[in-house]
Amino acid sequence: MQDQRIILPSAVAELLLRLNQSGYSAFVVGGCVRDSSLGLSPHDWDICTSALPDEIRGVFRNERLIETGIRHGTLTVVLDHTPYEITTYRVDGSYSDHRHPDEVVFVGDVCEDLSRRDFTINAMAYSDEDGLVDPFGGQEDLRSRLIRCVGDPEKRFEEDALRILRALRFASVFDFQIDPATDAALRKLAPTLNRVAAERIREELVKLLCGAGVGRILRAYPEVLAEFLPEIRPMIGYQQQNHHHLYDLWEHTVRAVEGVPADPVLRVTMLLHDTGKPAVRTTDDMGEGHYRGHQLASAQIAEKALTRLRFDNQSRDRIILLVRYHDIPLRNENGSVNTDQAFLLRRLNQFGEENVRALFRIHRADRMATGYSTPEKEELRYRTRVAALNQLLSGNPCYSLRTLAVDGNDLKRAGYRGKEIGEKLQCLLEAVMDGLVDNQREALLQYLSSPRAAT
Ligand code: ATP
Ligand code: MG
Repeated sequence: MQDQRIILPSAVAELLLRLNQSGYSAFVVGGCVRDSSLGLSPHDWDICTSALPDEIRGVFRNERLIETGIRHGTLTVVLDHTPYEITTYRVDGSYSDHRHPDEVVFVGDVCEDLSRRDFTINAMAYSDEDGLVDPFGGQEDLRSRLIRCVGDPEKRFEEDALRILRALRFASVFDFQIDPATDAALRKLAPTLNRVAAERIREELVKLLCGAGVGRILRAYPEVLAEFLPEIRPMIGYQQQNHHHLYDLWEHTVRAVEGVPADPVLRVTMLLHDTGKPAVRTTDDMGEGHYRGHQLASAQIAEKALTRLRFDNQSRDRIILLVRYHDIPLRNENGSVNTDQAFLLRRLNQFGEENVRALFRIHRADRMATGYSTPEKEELRYRTRVAALNQLLSGNPCYSLRTLAVDGNDLKRAGYRGKEIGEKLQCLLEAVMDGLVDNQREALLQYLSSPRAAT
């Protein structure tokens, strides 16, 4: 045990104290100890104790209790409106499905409980009474920035294949290296990832993609990721042979992922945006590769992958749309940034504000990742676009039927019928976006009877 202090929230200190006063030992454990040691603020505080589930229930009988995890020895106590998970020290029985222990066995000592945890940096416990409990060198690995399995890596990954992806996730999020023995074992056992539930894969993948070390991990472990995302396999080492691209397709993809903000939708979009390229490639007489239609092909691949990985519908649909239109032209014929109002309004009409902003970011990242542009150039283009968009939006312009100053009833009163009503509304909206008529009722009704609206 070492004397290192962690400042516990008062509710957590109270929970530990009450367990102690009833004669049980108790510690905070896992992610919160790791994050506190790194100087980060933990997003939750897990507690483990020598008390058995019934005994925990007895100690906190006057508090609100949630029993969902009780089978695994976990009871949730709500204190100050915050839920805290309290778990009896346990070890896992055997893992016949490589994912879930067949049984859990309660034990009396915190060190035994720590020995079932995945990585040394996650296998530390702390209490004000006993200080830090770190039997596997977690502190040292935090200092050396290493992800290392507790115990024999192959055995630990065989028990639970999700740990393979957790290793990559923590290495990405904390920008740590992976210890050589852990690295070798996770590569060897990567094919067993097919036993892990899609939801769990997706959760870890998204965190991995949003980590500070994502580029390094994507470069070093594409084959591991391809075990559950085979859609990326054709991109690995793929030579594009195109004069707009300096890098192979996987390196381009990695750079594009790094080039967008750490937002799940944007990062996944960039991971998948060019997956359709190998399948649609044609090669001209000069040996140059062309990829016409890759946007749609990538969107179709994305749809399959995202459905399989059980992304929520809203994220899935957004990602498919952004992949589909990732390189929709945002420039004039002469290559300059298109800040034309009518042009921007039509894009807003087509995609909505949030997606237009996302497309600006996607363009910046995609262009930079070609290797033939500079950060300065792309940043300037990006800012010019954003400034023009902000200025335009500050005037509350109309770019959807919802905010058009006339509606279907107005057109009925003006004598239109059936599908003509929809056509005329669309025609008026386009005229407003093109600056041909003001978005005012009278002006719009008058415009309807003008020859220009006859088409
Ligand atoms: P996060 O910041 O994502 O919550 P965390 O380390 O707290 O990170 P959790 O999934 O909340 O991760 O798990 C809490 C603790 O439980 C971990 O720190 C680790 O000690 C242990 N743990 C979680 N998943 C596994 C696993 N698959 N195998 C072994 N131990 C695990
Ligand atoms: Mg946690």
